[in-house]
Amino acid sequence: SPGLYIVATPIGNLGDITLRAIATLRGVAAVACEDTRITGKLLHYLQIKQKLIRYDDHASEATRDHILALASEQPVALVSDAGTPLISDPGFKLVRAARERGVSVTSLPGPSAAIMALTLAGLPSDRFLFAGFLPSKDKARRDALRGLASVEATLVLYETAPRLADALAAIGEELPGREVAVARELTKRFEECRTGSTAGLIAHYAANPPKGEIALVIAPPGEPAAVEHDIDALLRAALATDKA
Ligand code: SAM
Repeated sequence: SPGLYIVATPIGNLGDITLRAIATLRGVAAVACEDTRITGKLLHYLQIKQKLIRYDDHASEATRDHILALASEQPVALVSDAGTPLISDPGFKLVRAARERGVSVTSLPGPSAAIMALTLAGLPSDRFLFAGFLPSKDKARRDALRGLASVEATLVLYETAPRLADALAAIGEELPGREVAVARELTKRFEECRTGSTAGLIAHYAANPPKGEIALVIAPPGEPAAVEHDIDALLRAALATDKA
């Protein structure tokens, strides 16, 4: 039926496309996407031929009008390059405009790097704040981290490999003692999730320059600190028992 269908797509492993996503991408009248080349490849892999409309949040009002006029009569999908649309990706303005015009909106859930990183980090997952990408300039990045420092929740962020070292250094200074997980290349061949102190992670990635896509997970304030500190505590406890 007519409406806007928000469709999550894989974040690396094409096996993660859902059956509903495939059926929907096949059945809609058009697919709105960030990059027609990237979505074209996914559709080619799925052996789906579709009309593609380029869309991002910088798109003109006219493009939004066009997509929503179509969606009021026929089903139209929105996808992003990878993962869940609207999560550090375009779509928010389109969904808001659809709601304003009474165009029905539904969403087909699927992969998102933020949620996957949270499930791998081994950090408290009961309360979390997703804060998207940190600013790339040092001062703005530190200001953003200071603003997040008192949030009583696990933090989830997106980063890029070239900025990882600077981001970890800033996290170490602005959010001292907080354990951090680096979740890299999720669902892909070289997937890893490494949790530790910022100092330990900085040393590791200095010796092994990271490649690919990265999500960061930061422990909430007041969580027991990184493993190194736990070992200290265990040693102290052991020594104390000896003395007794
Ligand atoms: N909408 C996407 C989602 O739901 O995950 C996120 C899009 S955002 C433009 C791209 C960022 O997501 C990357 O820079 C990286 O921080 C993170 N990301 C995407 N895929 C990833 C993966 N396979 N492993 C780790 N992080 C990933």
